[in-house]
Amino acid sequence: MEKWLNSWSLGLTADVNDFIRIKKAGFEGIEILAEQNNAHHYLKFASDLGFKVGLHLPFHDLNLATPDSIVYERTFNVLSQWLAKLAEYGGKHATFHGGYAWFSEERNESLIRVKERILKLNEVAMQHGVELLLENLIPDKLNYCHQIASNVEEWIDLITAANVKACLDIGHLDLMGDALETTIDQLAGSLGGIHLSENDGKSDLHLLPGEGNHFTEELEGFLEKQSFDGPVIYEINPYQYSIQDIINHVSNVNSIVR
Ligand SMILES: [Zn+2]
Repeated sequence: MEKWLNSWSLGLTADVNDFIRIKKAGFEGIEILAEQNNAHHYLKFASDLGFKVGLHLPFHDLNLATPDSIVYERTFNVLSQWLAKLAEYGGKHATFHGGYAWFSEERNESLIRVKERILKLNEVAMQHGVELLLENLIPDKLNYCHQIASNVEEWIDLITAANVKACLDIGHLDLMGDALETTIDQLAGSLGGIHLSENDGKSDLHLLPGEGNHFTEELEGFLEKQSFDGPVIYEINPYQYSIQDIINHVSNVNSIVR
């Protein structure tokens, strides 16, 4: 297991000194959130300081499941450009969202589209030596839109059919209502990365592990059982915690990923 940080947790104005502090705290990798205004700088800071780098591909205004061909073309082009950029820095993984159906009734046709589109995006990723990780999303409780993938069955179906791996967002899983151990066992060898945070079981608060409902408490053992050795990426709310709060947490011997 490798200890990583998602750059969302650094806020929008981190400088190279913040990256140095994160490095000293023992983080091995940084997953850059591509839609941050400083994403290109962050990628360079991280790479220059010897971090492993990965990407969280942008998703706002970019819906991989869209029925609109122009929006899809734009989505595909932006994601492809970021995959090429990541490859320049030797990055090996890119986390992405499957988009959403405009209406839950259109879920099935949207899933067919998404499957084809992930296969196509994966061709680009493979050319660049990058592994795509499909993240689980929070279900729309109103059942108006349908977020893809927001149940475990459709998630596993997509990653199997499109031959990609999973980024398990643990906070999102808690809100999906699924058990952590069972899901990790179901994903098994398809598990490519972890987004780590806790919440109160009601909303996606991105709290430090141990400061929510303790859903992450036994994570380390569950991951060891599956011999998982990939990135465990802290994804912590920058509007609630400072960089120092995160450093203090991981410096504590009881933190989840040592
Ligand atoms: Zn996430």
